Amino acid sequence: MNKKFPIVAIVGQPNAGKSTLLNKIGGAQAAVTSDVPGTTRDRQYLNTSWNGMDFTLVDTAGLTLDPKDQLELSLNEQIDIALSQADAVLWVVDGKNIAGAVPQQVRQKFRKLKKPVILCVNKLDSPKTREPQTQAFKSLGIKKTFGVSALSGAGLGDMLDCLAETLAEIFPQQEDQEETSQATDKIAVAIVGKPNVGKSSIFNAILKEQRVVVSPVPGTTRASIDSDINIAGRDYLFIDTAGLKKKQHRQEQPDIFSGFQTFKSIRKSDVCLLVIDAAAEITKQDQRVAQEIFAMEKGCVLLANKSDLLVQKPRDQKNGPRRPADDKYQTLRDQISHHFPFLWMCPLFFVSAVSQEGLNETLSAIEPIFQARRKLVDNQTLSEFLNKIMKKNPPKLLRDQKKPKVFSLHQVGTNPPTFELKVNHPAAISQQFRKFLENSIIRELGFWGTPINLRLKGKDKT
Ligand code: GDP
Repeated sequence: MNKKFPIVAIVGQPNAGKSTLLNKIGGAQAAVTSDVPGTTRDRQYLNTSWNGMDFTLVDTAGLTLDPKDQLELSLNEQIDIALSQADAVLWVVDGKNIAGAVPQQVRQKFRKLKKPVILCVNKLDSPKTREPQTQAFKSLGIKKTFGVSALSGAGLGDMLDCLAETLAEIFPQQEDQEETSQATDKIAVAIVGKPNVGKSSIFNAILKEQRVVVSPVPGTTRASIDSDINIAGRDYLFIDTAGLKKKQHRQEQPDIFSGFQTFKSIRKSDVCLLVIDAAAEITKQDQRVAQEIFAMEKGCVLLANKSDLLVQKPRDQKNGPRRPADDKYQTLRDQISHHFPFLWMCPLFFVSAVSQEGLNETLSAIEPIFQARRKLVDNQTLSEFLNKIMKKNPPKLLRDQKKPKVFSLHQVGTNPPTFELKVNHPAAISQQFRKFLENSIIRELGFWGTPINLRLKGKDKT
């Protein structure tokens, strides 16, 4: 299973600069990771590291699965999410406003929060006035207050030092944690998808079909319970099974939490089972979950559930032409590759929680993906592979850029498989070449079922 990163929620009023802050902190990484096709550039979360502390920053305002809720969440709701889910909070306020404009009940909520809070007074772009302006916000009563400019990055270093220190107090043994979790051989599996696609039904069908014993494992928060399950001698940890088993428990949660819950389940997993409803249209909500899996570089098996319904003739076409079921499978395959092109490397199964069709195949697909995520390719193989690519499809010269030069390719990590491409100048390498190389690594070096992470490293940079 993956190590547990602390979660830091970024909360604040619309226009306080939350996403600018997130993007600035992730800026260095944004330059070296590729864009996800079909996704917006704005991040909602960022896995990052500062002073040796790994953590995930989450922009709570963006976290929701329901498209009609995609307007900014109110500050109150964000605080509630942070309260229940995050380990620490970055409260961002607009330093161009006066501190007195922050409503009394908001201050009180933050003061009462039983989690560390760091106040970022943002938009203090001028070095001259930053200090006095920051002081003015001390009246909000947060001990750890920093004046920053998310735009220029000024002040962010001190703020992140403080954040890393704060997290180190809550998670003192991150090093040990990492070692034990890397050593375990359990596969962490998350069954994810929008509501009503049949996630619970699939989980229950797997339990019934395999006649397995479930041992609950408390998750990181009180509400989340994971389950140890042994199927045919293989240990799995199914994530957030409390949510899957007890429907009534899940329905008690307000909608706004489902996005966060899905996010956390994906983050904890090695391999996700992404469930969609084969009998319904693919929607933005389905895409959103798929994008999170890809952005978090998790292994994935696509499950088109309720496929028992595909073979039945729709009632409204009683006298219409009979279409063979194969047609529907193909149409759905096309729709899936149209809506989730970035998950092209993931297997797709037509399953039915009702008839149990496809569940055994689904389970057998998980192990090879897990192994692929742990595989290390030696330098010799990578060097031969790169030579072949460079002969056949070298990167093209970009307008206004230096001539691209590619020196070497190494695998620098597993789970997710992470590669480093040494080049003369990262900006000289086209996205096209980068995508082509990524896809070729997956296809030719056997990383089926999982996105990989390809970083570009300029020769002169450390
Ligand atoms: P969840 O919200 O994703 O966990 O979805 P549920 O497992 O609660 O299922 C939602 C609805 O779809 C329920 O009424 C299920 O009975 C139904 N359902 C789930 N799987 C299947 C399936 O394979 N075939 C059919 N026909 N119905 C299903």
